[in-house]
Amino acid sequence: MTKDFQSVIGLEIHVQLASASKMFCACPSGAKAALPPNAALCPVCAGHPGALPVTNAQAVRLAVKAGLGLNAQINRTSVFARKNYFYPDLPKGYQITQDDKPICQGGYIEVQTEDGQSKKINITRAHLEEDAGKSMHEGAASLVDLNRAGVPLLEIVSEPDMRSAAEAYNYLTGLKSIMQWLEVSNADMEKGELRVDVNLSLMPKGAAEFGTKVEIKNLNSFKAVKDAINYEITRQSGVLKEGGIILQETRLWNEDKNATEVMRSKETAREYRYFPEQDLPPLVLSAEFIEEVKAALPPLPAQKRAQYARDYNLSAYDAGVMTLNKDICAYFEAALKAGAQPKAAVNWIATDILGKLNAENKEITQSPLPPQGLAALIKAVESGKISTKIAKEVFTNAWQSGKSVEELLKNTGGQISDEGQLEAWAKEAIADNPKAAAEFKAGNAKAIGALVGNVMKKSQGKANPAVLNKIINKLLA
Ligand SMILES: [Zn+2]
Repeated sequence: MTKDFQSVIGLEIHVQLASASKMFCACPSGAKAALPPNAALCPVCAGHPGALPVTNAQAVRLAVKAGLGLNAQINRTSVFARKNYFYPDLPKGYQITQDDKPICQGGYIEVQTEDGQSKKINITRAHLEEDAGKSMHEGAASLVDLNRAGVPLLEIVSEPDMRSAAEAYNYLTGLKSIMQWLEVSNADMEKGELRVDVNLSLMPKGAAEFGTKVEIKNLNSFKAVKDAINYEITRQSGVLKEGGIILQETRLWNEDKNATEVMRSKETAREYRYFPEQDLPPLVLSAEFIEEVKAALPPLPAQKRAQYARDYNLSAYDAGVMTLNKDICAYFEAALKAGAQPKAAVNWIATDILGKLNAENKEITQSPLPPQGLAALIKAVESGKISTKIAKEVFTNAWQSGKSVEELLKNTGGQISDEGQLEAWAKEAIADNPKAAAEFKAGNAKAIGALVGNVMKKSQGKANPAVLNKIINKLLA
């Protein structure tokens, strides 16, 4: 990256609202719209003259929920507008969106910076709009599928508050997590339910005025966002260092070339003309409605993180992992309820369970090990019944066989804590490793590792490490 320049980043994120129908008609949306091309269509979303739109109440409710989750102000009155431009997959010739009176205003998400500090990324606004259709190009022919035309979207615009790719990534992760948590959107990027535009400029370090910004459009994975930002920082600082100027333009991310490419310059930019949408009345929300949505909100990830840090003394990082999504959170809490010690539960979930699930491309709800099983395993280690090593074996066994931990523990020989037996093994280990024994005696505490390891081998991992340590210390005192 660059030492001389500071990057300034803002994100515009389109989130597909989890409503069963489209924004202004009753046609199916989301998973229900997985129909043959142009099967989820009616005169309204196909743009037939004279067909009148009706606002989808469920989409409005989801937008309010999202706004509350983003700490935004919900405007009691918002207004729909027509954004005019010509595009083959926009049958009406305009998109219904919100212009100067959006449904949500202000707000913020708290994110972690690279040095582990907490930082507020402010949100300018969030507004309701409809999606466009999809063009497909096959040879010389261009085909249009309008199933997506009219699907409800919430566009969330941030302030240019991010200063690195990592901060933008953390903001995106936080936003996605809130959307899923509140069931506002499935926010599956692979399905196009969350799309990101990046605005990025550079300014000399210490400067107060932002540089010329470049927009990178339609990024559809977290990795693409990170890569595109890093690419642009390098490209723009290269141009500036050579005394060049940054052109205000829109660029696209080319994944194959690992580079951004010019899509259109300022001169060829689309001229959007906004008109009030005469077919829809202003959207007026009652204070009671907003209160009702607020009252039904579950505790948010940030609240859960604060609670975990306070009640279980978890680090910000650990609390973050346990609140990555609602299901991980529920799993963690169920394990605690079944008697697991919090820090041990975090370690098992974050490392072993999520590690295996990620490798198998599965969600925590598909874990072969239920939270109660995890709790049983943790309790067995804590009480000294089994060693950590045996616990890992039981874990792997339970994962692969689908047998319950409780059942597997019954057939697992307990830990060997018999001092006579352990002392005999320890003496053998010392005789076998005179060098390690001498080093330990001379004050090198780490040298005990070779002796413990030797006994572990003899005991097939069943020696109680705490008792064994005490015995070796006694023998070499
Ligand atoms: Zn329709």
